[in-house]
Amino acid sequence: MHELSIAQSIVDIVLQHLPREEGVSVRSVRLTLGAMAGVVPDSLEFCFGAITEGTPLQGALLEIEHVPLRAHCNDCGGDTDIEPTLFACAACGSRSLTILSGREMQVRDIEVEENEGVR
Ligand SMILES: [Zn+2]
Repeated sequence: MHELSIAQSIVDIVLQHLPREEGVSVRSVRLTLGAMAGVVPDSLEFCFGAITEGTPLQGALLEIEHVPLRAHCNDCGGDTDIEPTLFACAACGSRSLTILSGREMQVRDIEVEENEGVR
């Protein structure tokens, strides 16, 4: 499953950024996800919940910030939000587009909690 490997790479990134592996737990992970990244958010959340059991990320909230697909139209010159399923300029219908944003998938922010005395 595609989302499973993506969830795993998110977990890897978060673990690399933890100050240490013990005595901390991750409260939330903020992720930007482009409309064209090809990821199903529900499926990603499910995989994330499943693979984080027993890790410092267990129970962490996965906050997904959706980035719309925006493109520059090479025919009418406008910058518009594009419907990924249509992939045509909203103003003139041209398919000659240069993508500006919407393909990204990035861990933006990690909220970590110190568990003092829990060893
Ligand atoms: Zn256009």
